[in-house]
Amino acid sequence: MNSNERRIYLSPPHLSGLEEQYVKQAFESNWIAPLGPNVEAFEKEVAAYVGAKGALAVSSGTAAIHLALRLIGVSAGDIVFCSTLTFVASANPILYLGAKPVFIDSEPSSWNMSPQALARAFEDAERTGKLPKAVVVVNLYGQSADYDEIKRICDHYQVPIVEDAAESLGATYKGKKSGTIGKFGIYSFNGNKIITTSGGGMLVSDDVEAIEKARFWATQARDKAVHYQHSEMGYNYRMSNLLAGVGRGQLRVLEDRIAARRQIFERYVQAFEDYPGITFMPEREYGLSTRWLTAMLLDPERYGGLKPAELVERLERRNIEARPVWKPLHLQPLFKDALYYPHSETDVARFLFEHGVCLPSGSSMTEEDQFRVIECIKEVLRPYVF
Ligand SMILES: *Cc1c(COP(=O)(O)O)cnc(C)c1O
Repeated sequence: MNSNERRIYLSPPHLSGLEEQYVKQAFESNWIAPLGPNVEAFEKEVAAYVGAKGALAVSSGTAAIHLALRLIGVSAGDIVFCSTLTFVASANPILYLGAKPVFIDSEPSSWNMSPQALARAFEDAERTGKLPKAVVVVNLYGQSADYDEIKRICDHYQVPIVEDAAESLGATYKGKKSGTIGKFGIYSFNGNKIITTSGGGMLVSDDVEAIEKARFWATQARDKAVHYQHSEMGYNYRMSNLLAGVGRGQLRVLEDRIAARRQIFERYVQAFEDYPGITFMPEREYGLSTRWLTAMLLDPERYGGLKPAELVERLERRNIEARPVWKPLHLQPLFKDALYYPHSETDVARFLFEHGVCLPSGSSMTEEDQFRVIECIKEVLRPYVF
């Protein structure tokens, strides 16, 4: 029995109205081709906003991770460490390069990469004489990982960090913008992210030369010649000038979008204040989370009989889109043979997956819509609470 109430999406695109002027300029100047003035301007604007020296606009966040790993020199047979609690796109580029992922658990306090699990993974890797080529660290649901400790460990072994900031554009870590702490940072402008180009991504780094090399690869690796000449393998990974126009209009309202998502988060917290065993993803003191998605946790002691999938299904019946927390990559059939380092005896990522739900968090969601979501959740929880 499906409701005929209006659908509430998890994280739909939210246009500012400013996009059209940039797209219109592109039409009027006939810059419909890939590349062009919007692409260059969008790269400069993102670089300036996050405080990176170089930026490359590409067709997706996944493409940006692929380029970052190739820049580091990851190749067939190499090992790459990667956060386990994330979307599959964090790890797929490891496979593109013929390398092998090793997954690292989350810590309970930030839900991001556990430094103690990372340290154990490195100790084992050193013992077997096969250190990773890179570490992909994900900033989950809009919150930065805790980089001081992660970086100390990676620096000790001289292994560079690729910061997967697809979900955390605009967040901070100790005063720095998320995505600028690793050797390379990547953002996604997929339709569900905090700002969107309908599809797209960005690679950033202070290593301007590396960014130029990625630009070359991303443009089919065309050598400097009037004829088409190629000495290296390339990709068709550049962002189109039209989509970069959308991105420029979106970037101008990013701060508003962050404020809106944080307010939505606050409303959820307030609504469930008096509910025992309901908690939310913590925000660490080291920085600002964008609260890209509000993630709620059901204490199994209290709500043991209620699975996240069941809550998701009950919301779906009211035409509300929610999702369980990411299924950890070490539990995915695709990676069934991969090594995994849990935080401790507890597999934190698995726990979060088994008890966590992401709630509708789009910045365009009205207060009224949000109350509909809240009422529906309360209805589902009633048998457990009272
Ligand atoms: C969305 C996302 C990506 C991939 O970005 P695309 O632009 O969709 O390729 C990578 N990592 C994380 C953590 C994401 O959420």
